[in-house]
Amino acid sequence: MTPAPGERPRRQYDERDVRVRPNRRGSRPRTKDRPAHADAVLGRVLGVDRGRYTVLVNPPGPAHAGPDGVDGHERRRVSAMKARELGRKSIVVGDLVALVGDISGSPDALARIVRQVPRTSVLRRTADDTDPTERVIVANADQLVIVTALADPQPRPRMIDRCLVAALDAGLTPLLVLTKADLSDPVPLLTAYELLDVPTVVTSFQPCTGTVAGLAGLTERLRGQVSVFVGHSGVGKSTLVNALVPGAERSTGRVNQVTGRGRHTSTSVVALELPGTDGGWVIDTPGVRSFGLAHVDINRIVDHFPDLEPGTQDCPRGCTHDEPECGLDAWVESAQAGPGAAARLDSVRRLLRARSAPAD
Ligand code: ZN
Repeated sequence: MTPAPGERPRRQYDERDVRVRPNRRGSRPRTKDRPAHADAVLGRVLGVDRGRYTVLVNPPGPAHAGPDGVDGHERRRVSAMKARELGRKSIVVGDLVALVGDISGSPDALARIVRQVPRTSVLRRTADDTDPTERVIVANADQLVIVTALADPQPRPRMIDRCLVAALDAGLTPLLVLTKADLSDPVPLLTAYELLDVPTVVTSFQPCTGTVAGLAGLTERLRGQVSVFVGHSGVGKSTLVNALVPGAERSTGRVNQVTGRGRHTSTSVVALELPGTDGGWVIDTPGVRSFGLAHVDINRIVDHFPDLEPGTQDCPRGCTHDEPECGLDAWVESAQAGPGAAARLDSVRRLLRARSAPAD
């Protein structure tokens, strides 16, 4: 998908990312690393569990169109650990990494992650009571898919706004998916987000057939993209992921009455390949309730609205763009701003407030 004007250009990764560059400070590569890294292969981290990484060797993607990957290594899942030389550098789902060692993928095989390809984006989970630091939970995503039910449970506009701020700040394209349109009219929510130019997809569950209507439109939006799915429990996120990715078997929250299993079967972030979508990926994030917004730079949010951004030139230093001295009010009343700019500014200010408001 070609980015719209003003969007962050997608960085294409390729083979050069994997090759170990010569030591910058000297002309000679370090002999200690060189032999092992010369044959490193590229992989995408699909999951992390207690220090072990599931990595797909030669993942599908822009530079990996061939069925067997670029180096003749077949696509396969391998288990890997972080090489000591990476130190405390965090490796998360979505990271592209260089692997050495046993990449056979056999049950006992353990490869080593020796390098992390520079990330194109990071999405941070918010700090909470048990962990006071914001942590990167997904790397290299292109899109944040915010799944919200139109009813049962009721939509939470503040939650949606927080997700939008997180997406815009991380440089991800937001996509709002409104589920359960069979239960409630989507128009009021669609109208509320139209002013912010947020693309939307409406889906509904078809009880007779057990299928999801609107899935084709969603699949189109996911084509060639790495899409992170977020949503509170009960909104139908797992139902969507299961419908999109055959065999995903993400827990839909229903507990099997006999075994008692079900609710906790999928609690970690995981990347799932989306078949037939030119290298599209779905990254499911169960248990992620909100995103870290403490680091968000307000101007980065305003920059996403090119019709408003010039109005910030008359703002006082350090303007929050939500105060009486803000230059944006005069801007939207001036002839230079386009029609509807005032309504758009209201919507953008609502977003800016979501940044400081507590998550609900
Ligand atoms: Zn301002």
